[in-house]
Amino acid sequence: MGLDTLDRHTTLITINRRLSRVLHGEYERAQLAAGATVWESPDILPYPSWLQRCWNDVVAGTDGALPALLGAEQDLSLWEQVIAQRPPADTEPALLQSTAAARDAQAAWALLRGWQLHYDGDLGYASDEVRAFRRWAHDYASLCEAGKWMDLASVADRLIDVARKDSQASALLQGMAGSSGEVHGVRRLLLAGFDAITPQQQSLFAALGERGIRVEKRAAPSHDVNALRFDFATQDDELEAAARWARQRLEDQASASVGIVVPGLARVRHRLAVIFADVFAPGATRPGSAQPTPLFNISLGQPLADVPVVGDALLGLCAMAGWLSLADAGRWLLSPYLGGGDLSWRARLDAELRRIGEPRYSLVHLGEIATRMAGAGGASHGKAGFHVALLEALQRRDVSRTHARAVSDWASEFSSWLVDAGWPGERALTSDEYQAVQAFRELLATLAALASVLPPLDFAGALTKLQQLAARQLFQPRTGSAPVQVLGVLEAAGADYSYLWLSGLHHQAWPEPARPNPFLPVKLQRALGMPRAGSEQQLGWARAWTARMLVSAPEVVVSHPRQQGDEPLRPSALIAGLPLGDRDAMITSRAPGDIQGVQAGAPILEILDDQVAPAVDTRLPVRGGVSVFKDQAACPFRAFAVHRLGARDVEAPDSSLDSRVRGNLAHRLLELLWQALGGQSRLLALSAGERGDLVRSTAKRVLDDEARRRPQTLRGRLLALEQKRLESLAEAWLDIEAGRAPFEVEAEHSESRNVAGLPVTLRPDRIDRLADGQLFLVDYKTGPSDPRDWFGERPGEPQLPVYALAMDDIGEARVVGLAFATLRPGDLGYRGLAQDDGLAPGVNSVSASKLHGAREAADWDAHKSLWRERLTRLARAYLEGDARVDPKVPGATCRYCGLQVLCRIHEQ
Ligand code: SF4
Repeated sequence: MGLDTLDRHTTLITINRRLSRVLHGEYERAQLAAGATVWESPDILPYPSWLQRCWNDVVAGTDGALPALLGAEQDLSLWEQVIAQRPPADTEPALLQSTAAARDAQAAWALLRGWQLHYDGDLGYASDEVRAFRRWAHDYASLCEAGKWMDLASVADRLIDVARKDSQASALLQGMAGSSGEVHGVRRLLLAGFDAITPQQQSLFAALGERGIRVEKRAAPSHDVNALRFDFATQDDELEAAARWARQRLEDQASASVGIVVPGLARVRHRLAVIFADVFAPGATRPGSAQPTPLFNISLGQPLADVPVVGDALLGLCAMAGWLSLADAGRWLLSPYLGGGDLSWRARLDAELRRIGEPRYSLVHLGEIATRMAGAGGASHGKAGFHVALLEALQRRDVSRTHARAVSDWASEFSSWLVDAGWPGERALTSDEYQAVQAFRELLATLAALASVLPPLDFAGALTKLQQLAARQLFQPRTGSAPVQVLGVLEAAGADYSYLWLSGLHHQAWPEPARPNPFLPVKLQRALGMPRAGSEQQLGWARAWTARMLVSAPEVVVSHPRQQGDEPLRPSALIAGLPLGDRDAMITSRAPGDIQGVQAGAPILEILDDQVAPAVDTRLPVRGGVSVFKDQAACPFRAFAVHRLGARDVEAPDSSLDSRVRGNLAHRLLELLWQALGGQSRLLALSAGERGDLVRSTAKRVLDDEARRRPQTLRGRLLALEQKRLESLAEAWLDIEAGRAPFEVEAEHSESRNVAGLPVTLRPDRIDRLADGQLFLVDYKTGPSDPRDWFGERPGEPQLPVYALAMDDIGEARVVGLAFATLRPGDLGYRGLAQDDGLAPGVNSVSASKLHGAREAADWDAHKSLWRERLTRLARAYLEGDARVDPKVPGATCRYCGLQVLCRIHEQ
């Protein structure tokens, strides 16, 4: 029976909300295909909504003596309360988490109503769980009676009473006028997706039948069985094949409707959305591309809390609680939905928080840091001003967070705080974002409505409640009618398609496992045939479902993956007998542009050569310094992105003292020590006590400076341990320095020179002047390092060779040696190359060196010539605009680069 039989006197009732949405879409498509431009909306609604509508109409016709209907969340809150008020005794399940238990108790109650049983009746063997449920059910019923409330599961019973009483039946029947608007307009109820009808539903439909209303099941479509079976290596392969197959069917027949059924849709929803978007709208996410007409729709929404505009609102409310973790503070600052003002300035504030590295920040801290930055920012003060003012305004919102208040008060407090925080942002929202904002506002109204059933809560309690509501509420934006519908198992059974693909039917997933309700005796559930009560029920249900789906469309494909992780999978026994299809014949390969025949307005893909950027304009200052050489050698695109586009990987929030911070502390300590000592002679002249005092006070100075930046992290025991670590590192290192040939340490250089056409500021960690006046350059390393990175066409660490050439060019003295000074516990010492032996332990002449790569030139001067050649080539490539995505060692070079999102190396 098609949807064309729907008329003004028919209401189509679906088993769930998702099927209702699917059938609305199907109806719209049929109207469009018939050439209609406007049409009357059909009366299609899910069973719970239909019950609710009927009850509201009955209540409207009375003087208010009838109980008020509880919303789903109000009902759940009541169950949570009764469970919390009766803490489980020893004989009861101590495992219960109140929300999960409340949901199961709510479902057990609905099953009892559906089978017209009473919780106090003879249900058979009563386990601890069943006895606990009976006590909760008793409390719940008493609460409902006292509050004059009624739950949705009980509405049908009351409607049966109403239908059988002449005095009240007319109100009910009037309410059934449905969309026709006519009194007693509905003469027929059409049921879709009702595989099994509960005794309660049977009674209700029978009572309505006695009042002249016809109740019919919507007949399922029936075609010849010609289904083929396919298997795929993984579930991703299977879903991608389904998407490509669906797309090809649309290309062949633009008016086709395609159904893809995915058991366990919630588990794979995200992955599936990515795969389908890739197949149906390649390039649709390009900046500035028009949003194409959606060709597919996934019938299952995502939790409202996971929608970014709502997730950021909840995050903003957490800031109101007092503290944000470092990661959350960054997310809040970078959110396009919060804060207003200048986003680039907010990004700088985020970078500053990461640099400081404290584990958490309050609004007061944020305000102080923002004010400090604004004061130091000169030209950026104006951009910062807005944000500083916003933070101050939020701090001024004086709310007592420990005082218990009605949740309705908190709902309005949350609402106005979000307005102050600039939510939902200044830019125009997309349609999906706008709908999510509306859904969140409705959720705040739901929270306010809980005031009738919840006691007053403090701030944290109210926010937790709101977070729970947002996590439970599924959000599905209305996108209009899409020709490809991705469905779960339940809604698929009621829909009608030109093509149908049943995926994921492997032996572990189909039939779905039994899951009896824990609060009702299992024997009773099985005997009465309650849903998911036992494996026999599941098998019988799955067998009937499969048989029906195989004849539900002229072309049906059935599939399963062969593997899940390491586990091999077989086809479900219910589909194993179907003939295997030919995968190559099923989908022929097409060019991406063909989809435009179906999707007007889809973005046109254009291939651009992005390997060469415009040449650097050398009349303007060339930025980047010595790191241009390093980045160009590592990957030309990286050099282009970092030094010309200004791209940066944000630092990963790390509130501990990570290796980078520890490295900086060690660098700073040695810098200050040599500023104090000046050279080796003074070091050797110090007594052991004097040397110890110098090391101790210098380490303390370094740590005090750092502790001022990280007062929450660097304190107490950690501070004492760091002091010890730095002292022992310095002592061990000074021992090595004492054993070298004589040297003085040069004061810090910051001179600029041109090397191979690129300006470089000379800033090695240390320049030692040797007894003969020549120079030795030192680079401190606290991480892994190897001088082999100075050699080869693409040197990994070219800084010291660059500095060496630049200082030679100055001409005041020659550089005769380079070394990495490794400051790792257990691996202290120099490793380097020099003109002659004897400069420092671990630093050898070219002829004596065992360094990998040292022999690629015959002597020290030949190495310098080679470095100049290679560095010149790198500099020239950079200046000419070489921007190839060409990592030196794919994988290893990219691992810590952080620009993968920009260069899209993973798509190559
Ligand atoms: S991630 Fe790899 S390919 Fe991309 S820019 Fe960085 S180094 Fe180059």
